[in-house]
Amino acid sequence: MTFTTRFAPSPTGPLHLGHAYSALLGFDMAQASQGAFLLRIEDIDRSRSRSHWEDQIYDDLHWLGLGWRRPVMRQSSRQPAYDAALDRLWSMGLLYPCTCSRRDIQQAASAPQEGAPEFGPDGLIYPGTCRRKVANDRDRPRNCTLRLDIARAIETAAESPPRAPASRVCAGFQETGQGPDGAHGWIDITADDLIHGVGDFVVARKDMATSYHLSVTVDDAAQGVTHVVRGQDLFEATKIHVLLQQLLGLPLPLYHHHRLIRDDAGKRLAKRDDARAIATYRAEGATPQDIRRMVGL
Ligand code: GLU
Ligand code: ZN
Repeated sequence: MTFTTRFAPSPTGPLHLGHAYSALLGFDMAQASQGAFLLRIEDIDRSRSRSHWEDQIYDDLHWLGLGWRRPVMRQSSRQPAYDAALDRLWSMGLLYPCTCSRRDIQQAASAPQEGAPEFGPDGLIYPGTCRRKVANDRDRPRNCTLRLDIARAIETAAESPPRAPASRVCAGFQETGQGPDGAHGWIDITADDLIHGVGDFVVARKDMATSYHLSVTVDDAAQGVTHVVRGQDLFEATKIHVLLQQLLGLPLPLYHHHRLIRDDAGKRLAKRDDARAIATYRAEGATPQDIRRMVGL
């Protein structure tokens, strides 16, 4: 199988040094394996995505010396594929509508008997308020938030062909880079990791009709991605993606999570950190080689 990786930025702000590192690393790995480097524009959040940021992504990446296969996949044109995946999960009886506001979730999660609210890769761990006997409606409801009943999903996934031997293990993935704690090699995903560390996560939102986790999983498979190269901040989210792959019968890629580029104070770079935007360095006369040096490549 040809090594295929992708860089998947959201056009919600300027690319900064952290993005440059991710894109250059993925591109270099693809070159070294005579593989393919793909670009995917993650613009499902229509309220924050802007076409001028998308244009600047192309411009910055070209300037860095990167090339990619056309046409570029844009998530805003992928809704039919997300709908098909959601219909499938719905027909498996794994989804339920959730009408909780952020505040409802905060309050329920911090109720005395529940202990302090905890965060997972999908935000505050959902206390299960709207979870109930799976709705029997034949058709998936539209225009509402849908969550995955994670305990049921684990049971269902366990019935599909096992990918790891031990019985407590739900699944796992091969890490060729490093997780935040230095995790490398085969990473087990236990039922406990998912139930207590992730909870019933959102697969579709009222305003988006999909979610980051669902889209990224469906699209990596659709693009034939064999090796996901991305920041360590998404290491925990990979557990969600692997579960979704298993439920949807999608192939399991390898994962390469890389270190994060931090500012001088040790803080992770954010989109609004314009000082470290690639465009700012360009305007100040830096060369692509300077950028490579700055990120340690
Ligand atoms: N679109 C995500 C971001 O901008 C990256 C998704 C991924 O690489 O899986 O952080
Ligand atoms: Zn709810």
